[in-house]
Amino acid sequence: MADTKRLSGGCHCGAVRFEAAVDLSQAIVCNCSICMKRGAMWSFLPAAQVTFLKGENAVHDYQFAAKKLHHMFCPNCGVGSFSRGRGPDGQETIAVNVRCLDEIDVTALKPMPFDGKSL
Ligand SMILES: [Zn+2]
Repeated sequence: MADTKRLSGGCHCGAVRFEAAVDLSQAIVCNCSICMKRGAMWSFLPAAQVTFLKGENAVHDYQFAAKKLHHMFCPNCGVGSFSRGRGPDGQETIAVNVRCLDEIDVTALKPMPFDGKSL
């Protein structure tokens, strides 16, 4: 069931702030090495669906393995509120960390498992 809402979010210290049209029914929990350690829950969106209010270029970029994904994080508070990559169709994609959205009850969500470990 599509449930797209315009939500705001960002890192812990407030250096990074964004708004995004997020469908929380499509949230994903990935089992890859970095998502396991970060405890992130993601919503993958076309980049155009995310509007940065501040901090888009203040973040640092962490990459590993195939280095296709950019695991952005705030250099001040360390929180990774979004990541960048490209979808299978080559479209620029932003994964918003659902746990970094304002006033979200993550316990009410039913995220789908994603087998990033096998990629
Ligand atoms: Zn921060």
